[in-house]
Amino acid sequence: MPEPHTNSYYAATAHVETNYPQLSGSERCDVAIIGGGFSGVATALSLAERGYDVILMEQHKIAWGASGRNGGQLINGFGGTKRIRHQLGESVEDLIWEMGWQGHQIIEARIEKYAIQCDYKPGYMEVALRPRQVRELEEDIEYYQRRGLGDDVHLISKTELPDIIGTDTYLGGLINNKNGHLHPLNLCIGEARAAAGLGVRIFEGTKVLDIHYGEKPVVSTATGNVEANTVVIAGNAYHHLDPKRFSGLIFPAGSYLIATEPLTEAEVQALNPLDLAVADLNNVLDYFRLSADKRMIFGGRCNYSGRVPKNIKDTLLPRLLKIYPQLAAKSIDYQWGGNIGIVINRVPLIRRWDKNVFSAMGYSGHGLNVAHLAGDILADAIAGSFERLDVFDRIEHIRIPFGRWFGNQIVALGMLYYRMKDLL
Ligand SMILES: Cc1cc2nc3c(=O)[nH]c(=O)nc-3n(C[C@H](O)[C@H](O)[C@H](O)COP(=O)(O)OP(=O)(O)OC[C@H]3O[C@@H](n4cnc5c(N)ncnc54)[C@H](O)[C@@H]3O)c2cc1C
Repeated sequence: MPEPHTNSYYAATAHVETNYPQLSGSERCDVAIIGGGFSGVATALSLAERGYDVILMEQHKIAWGASGRNGGQLINGFGGTKRIRHQLGESVEDLIWEMGWQGHQIIEARIEKYAIQCDYKPGYMEVALRPRQVRELEEDIEYYQRRGLGDDVHLISKTELPDIIGTDTYLGGLINNKNGHLHPLNLCIGEARAAAGLGVRIFEGTKVLDIHYGEKPVVSTATGNVEANTVVIAGNAYHHLDPKRFSGLIFPAGSYLIATEPLTEAEVQALNPLDLAVADLNNVLDYFRLSADKRMIFGGRCNYSGRVPKNIKDTLLPRLLKIYPQLAAKSIDYQWGGNIGIVINRVPLIRRWDKNVFSAMGYSGHGLNVAHLAGDILADAIAGSFERLDVFDRIEHIRIPFGRWFGNQIVALGMLYYRMKDLL
């Protein structure tokens, strides 16, 4: 049975409940897409805009996975760039920079073109907890200035911070007004509606059980099958398809959020008058922002063991109160979590696996922007243009043997290492 959305702030404030039919019988199309999160929906929309006949299958509801549950922080760049530079050299530097913003351009254009109401707001700040992180911010702003971001980026000193985010927790910050925040579930639902409007056939409650590779690959479900010229796998941390290819490459890591009751206007002015999304620079980071109705949405503390904390609020609230003790009396109206797709070297699995089977997944914590970039890259590749796909496709990945459980323990160990590094 398809599962409803998790009990999040986003599900409670979704503009519509999607109600696409279940696949029944045999269908044919140019491109069959597995997974109805940002990766699947963005790819479907990019292809439909180019005139392809597309079928998208989601086992539960559109944006049921990470895409409908995340922090809503729209941040440039993607994971694994160090690894990409190391393997491909400095010649890809400009392309990495450009691709790091293409997801934003696609999202902004779609919000406008398809009139998607998703509370999009520019404004994002990274904050430093350690002196070495302040130095990182200083290097970053130099790089941003060289790349021409000009007045969109500002370095914020320790003394200025309390006026901007109502806390003296941090040693410095970097505001980047080209990044921002939004309601991810409403964005994804809006993009799915736009895709359906262009002829994409969307099926919910339709779990793909198998992929049969070949000249005309076929994906099968319990209630039907789809023959296509090309298949895109976009199931991220939630899919178990094709274990020979994917096992040991991508691992689920739980990430969690809480949302308070709405703050008063005076509290908003004291805590976040510029309405910024904020994230610290730790590897295992805390991040927060205000929702459109002024709730504090606070996230952090990944879990790599595969175990969901018994009480998400008990895990996250002390961290929120360390930053904002003045919120101690606020009730926590929502608590929820979801799975991020972690790849060991952090390079997204935007790849071609067979001449007609591609994947878009594994953004290791990023995702809003990268999933949209991935959709565009795959639409280009399916149309025969491989320049951007090659950047990801040529990267060698580390595969952890002995299955998911063992892999998760290795990922957990790796993150323990990073958490200790954060403390130094
Ligand atoms: C709690 C949390 C906070 C986050 N915060 C941020 C943030 O602030 N900013 C940011 O950029 N990123 C954030 N991320 C990461 C971001 O949400 C993800 O990288 C992104 O949404 C991935 O999109 P996706 O479509 O690849 O995967 P998902 O959204 O997980 O979608 C995959 C979909 O595939 C479906 N599926 C799987 N298997 C099958 C199958 N066999 N048949 C049919 N359907 C299938 C699933 O049901 C699911 O709906 C966060 C993630 C989490 C979990």
